[in-house]
Amino acid sequence: MSDKSYTILVVEDDPAVRNLVSTALESRGYQHLTAATGNAAIASAATSDPDIVLLDLGLPDMDGVDVIRRIRTWSTMPIIVLSARAEDADKIEALDAGADDYLSKPFSVGELLARLRTTERHLGYMAEDAAPQQSTFVNGDLVVDFAAGTVALEGRELHLTPMEYKLLCLLAHNIDRVLTHQYILHEVWGTSQDGDLASLRVFMGTLRKKIEENPSRPRYIQTHVGVGYRMVRV
Ligand code: CA
Repeated sequence: MSDKSYTILVVEDDPAVRNLVSTALESRGYQHLTAATGNAAIASAATSDPDIVLLDLGLPDMDGVDVIRRIRTWSTMPIIVLSARAEDADKIEALDAGADDYLSKPFSVGELLARLRTTERHLGYMAEDAAPQQSTFVNGDLVVDFAAGTVALEGRELHLTPMEYKLLCLLAHNIDRVLTHQYILHEVWGTSQDGDLASLRVFMGTLRKKIEENPSRPRYIQTHVGVGYRMVRV
């Protein structure tokens, strides 16, 4: 349990899932609010200013992705999508619309609480970032010196290609967030052609060989199959 009591807005039209989530949150001492429609969710996000939103994508009155777009017009509050749909396209659309993370239904209470802890850590770092921008990024044994443009692992300087460096910086700046393939391609290559997904995989492979002790079991960069990548705080 965290020192600060976070308020979570649970947006879910299925009463069974809503009750399950509510019970799990109560057991861990979270404050929570609930909404069963997209319009109620937007109103509650605006008036109650929750710390984190858990958002079902399939709502009776509007698409959850539109709820994200609306909230993003005024707030950067973390939004975790709860998706019952098997299609990756919905999760990807939600992430590109500004969701921070997702949970695929059915999920366990343990997974839900783990995702909330990650988001809380991220909120803590966001508060620290209100201080002047750090010019050095440290994650475990990995150090990126943005000012010098250098990367070191366990104190040894790594030689990255310009593309590998850009890719690493993008993931580092967005630590704990799942970045979609499309977003990465747009930010690093300035393109979103599907054909470039192959080059993204190649660069990710060579980057991992340099920063991961065991590239087949990566420690720093997670693969989200069919969705994208996330740098995790180690
Ligand atoms: Ca639903």
